[in-house]
Amino acid sequence: MQGLHLRYKRLGTFFAVIVVLFGSSRLYKYCSSNPTISPEIATSVSNIIPKEPEILETTLTLGSGGSVQKLLTSFGVTKEAALQISNAFSQYQSHRTLKSGQSFYIRYKKLEDGVQIESLQAQPSIDQKVSVTMIDGCYVGKAEKINLTPTVHVFEGNVRSSFYSSALKAGVPSKLVQEAADVLSYVVNFQHGIKAGATFKILCNALKNDQGNIVKIEQLRFVSLHTNGQRHEIYSFKDNGKIRFFDSNGNSVVRSLLQTPLNAAKLCVTSGFGVRRHPIHGFSHKHKGVDFGAASGTPVLAAGDGRVVSCGWYGGYGNHVKIRHEGGYETLYGHLKYINKGIRPGTHVSQRQVLGGVGMTGSATGPHLHFEVILNGRHINPMKVQGLPTFKLTGGSLKKFEAMKQQTLKEVVEIIQTKAVVAE
Ligand SMILES: [Zn+2]
Repeated sequence: MQGLHLRYKRLGTFFAVIVVLFGSSRLYKYCSSNPTISPEIATSVSNIIPKEPEILETTLTLGSGGSVQKLLTSFGVTKEAALQISNAFSQYQSHRTLKSGQSFYIRYKKLEDGVQIESLQAQPSIDQKVSVTMIDGCYVGKAEKINLTPTVHVFEGNVRSSFYSSALKAGVPSKLVQEAADVLSYVVNFQHGIKAGATFKILCNALKNDQGNIVKIEQLRFVSLHTNGQRHEIYSFKDNGKIRFFDSNGNSVVRSLLQTPLNAAKLCVTSGFGVRRHPIHGFSHKHKGVDFGAASGTPVLAAGDGRVVSCGWYGGYGNHVKIRHEGGYETLYGHLKYINKGIRPGTHVSQRQVLGGVGMTGSATGPHLHFEVILNGRHINPMKVQGLPTFKLTGGSLKKFEAMKQQTLKEVVEIIQTKAVVAE
């Protein structure tokens, strides 16, 4: 009885193999020039392939300069099948727009002559999914639109070691963190002006998908930073067709001098963590400037537009750059690891232009930037310099700004309240 059962089973496998081989040869003919496999060959391989291979799944990632076709052939797919899949895919998504790092979810079988793809899926853009599926032996492509809905979103959190890491932890996308830090860096010293425990809110226009996840940030609209009893509030406002950032009084936040002449986003706060061997915290007549503890090599930025007066080795300052700005201001940057090529006495520099990298040349015990501000020949506390606003709203524009500001603050409160209700 058992023997008979076994024979039936073998017979079943034999038919299954015939069906698979006949099936694939018949169906392939519409798509490729695959030679048809004769029943004789099918019979002879029936002993080699004992059963229908199972469907496996994995995710493949496109390397830089790679293509769908190459990705598949290197995975073991035949050149011909890889080309068919690639062609079906490109009907909906041009290969040129694919970026390295793009992932492809695939379902496949391992056959004697290589890997056979059952289906491939990718989401090359935030609003479209593309899939290629084997239907009757042919690869057929399909695109699916993902519905995105405009929304207004508020991110909020506390600063721990740095604004950047804390904001990322609060779910803020890195590009938005950088933008918020950039606008804040005109008015806040990102190391000494922010204390651990500071709170921030970021309001933006965004797009969300059907699952309610934010998939794209469209516009930073408001950022607030509350620290040391000080509240910094910055609004984006469209005036004369141009979006600019303003403080709550309608003054442009873009000032003649930066408070933080380094990539503000990544600086650690003084009282937080990670600032080791931080030399001197504040300004004094003896110290003449403020120190920013930062990793060696961190780009040092020109605080404002100006002209280089001196640069190079200068005693205890080590490698230094000194810039003369408008309004009688000068800024000095000390202990630099290196000074960028092109930075020479007489060179014109613009605000945020990279002067060199943070180092510990001269008398420094650890990597840090020594930053001085000189006004009409006298050293002043860089943390007290606000610089001049480059633009101020007046008249009708200021009135519109005021209305927008009230509306924005109302939205922030409402969104936070709604979130709190949802969380309950
Ligand atoms: Zn110093």
